[in-house]
Amino acid sequence: MSSAQPLESRRRDAPDLGPARCDVLVIGGGPAGSTISSLLADRGWRVTLLEKDHHPRFHIGESLLPMNLPILERLGVLQQVREIGMFKPGIEICSNREAGKTQFFYFDKSLEGTCKHAFQVRRSEFDHLLLKNSAKQGVEIHEGVRVTEVAFRQDATSTVRALDADGQERQWEADFVVDASGRNAFLSTRLGLKEKNENHNSAAVFGHFKGAVRRTGRDEGNIGLFWFEHGWFWLIPLRDGVTSVGAVCWPDYLKTRSGSLDSFLWDTIRLCPAIHERMKEAELIGQATATGNYSYGSRRMWGQGYLLVGDAYAFIDPVFSTGVYLAMNGASMGAEAIDAYLRSGGKSVAQFKKFERVMGRGLRTLSWFIYRFTTPTLHDLFMAPRNTFRMEQALISVLAGDVFRKTPVTLPVTLFKTAYYIGNLLNWGRSWTSYRRRRRNADLAFAEGAPPGQSKP
Ligand SMILES: Cc1cc2nc3c(=O)[nH]c(=O)nc-3n(C[C@H](O)[C@H](O)[C@H](O)COP(=O)(O)OP(=O)(O)OC[C@H]3O[C@@H](n4cnc5c(N)ncnc54)[C@H](O)[C@@H]3O)c2cc1C
Repeated sequence: MSSAQPLESRRRDAPDLGPARCDVLVIGGGPAGSTISSLLADRGWRVTLLEKDHHPRFHIGESLLPMNLPILERLGVLQQVREIGMFKPGIEICSNREAGKTQFFYFDKSLEGTCKHAFQVRRSEFDHLLLKNSAKQGVEIHEGVRVTEVAFRQDATSTVRALDADGQERQWEADFVVDASGRNAFLSTRLGLKEKNENHNSAAVFGHFKGAVRRTGRDEGNIGLFWFEHGWFWLIPLRDGVTSVGAVCWPDYLKTRSGSLDSFLWDTIRLCPAIHERMKEAELIGQATATGNYSYGSRRMWGQGYLLVGDAYAFIDPVFSTGVYLAMNGASMGAEAIDAYLRSGGKSVAQFKKFERVMGRGLRTLSWFIYRFTTPTLHDLFMAPRNTFRMEQALISVLAGDVFRKTPVTLPVTLFKTAYYIGNLLNWGRSWTSYRRRRRNADLAFAEGAPPGQSKP
């Protein structure tokens, strides 16, 4: 990582102001929290990270994107991730309407400058590795400590209250607070910033399996995406032979569940012949899990003395495996902004504004594809990709996560979108039916944190 530059009085080597005092307090030790902590500690700030669980802990979301790699390299953990990861050369997308026809998208065909492969990782190992790296960078980490309250004061430090595993209250004074609490969206919820996504609504049922059929050779590590009548499936092969399989479904389908979650997942698998074929001999390890209240955002990303990163800011459907990358990329940009802010004594907010703009642009690019993933027109375009005007290459760059930099992606992506809209006009009947279903489902409200039929966790 880069060497620390000269800093003012609140640096780590400044006189110790007491055990419960820090420059930056980070809530949550997932990829967003550990990344921003490491990068800020590397710049000399005294960072404390509070994590309610103990690592290694289970987390869903095993498929990384190629554009994650430069961040992992910057953190100095790329080699370690390579050792625990399954090499992921691309994505295969399987059609339900064309008798299981599969289209392969390899990252090495992306536009120049986009990274050419990624990894699938067990999140317990990956997140633990990142957190240990933060500790190595000098971050003070407290596991089993859940933040319960943040009291902000104008032009002064904030008080962060937390409960440890024994139920004892702990307090910290911090110049700056980062919320990286994931889908708990701690600050966004408390500050009334959280908003349900009006355009997209779905939920997931998933599990880890042994005995699922894998492809061989180069394609073994591909992520598989499978459309089916009620949404789509993911199939993610992990290095140790386990496969992560999940279905992201429309609420109207999830509302039909009556039995156990395990049997619902198996019944859903049987509705998609292509994935069922791969799962005939498979066995569920442990129990199936469900996640609801899927897509949301926050009205703002930062304010006086705080920043929201990763899922604590926004969550978009992970159909293209964007979550970890968005979390780490946001954390990386966020670290720059906080560094500039603290150095200026809390005056410089230009970097926050830039960060919010860039993040918004990237999220909009990805969301355009995500919202339309289950539409018949996008299905057709994905099943018969053409590289006219480098449209296919640009699409692969977007799928690799290359949406934040200024690249030659913009023009071919615009042409791709134009092809989509023309396709919609030519097939307006089916497009209208699909739009109506998307709208109806977006309007169906989930209970907070749980899909219909499942109680709040
Ligand atoms: C079904 C599903 C499938 C997904 N698939 C993928 C995928 O294939 N690829 C991908 O990239 N992404 C995927 N994602 C998204 C991905 O998992 C997240 O985007 C990613 O984990 C975000 O990282 P984060 O650090 O923001 O949050 P998290 O990883 O959730 O970390 C937040 C941490 O904060 C801690 N915490 C919460 N509240 C408190 C508190 N009050 N005090 C202290 N600690 C607290 C939590 O214990 C947790 O460790 C998927 C998500 C879902 C739901």
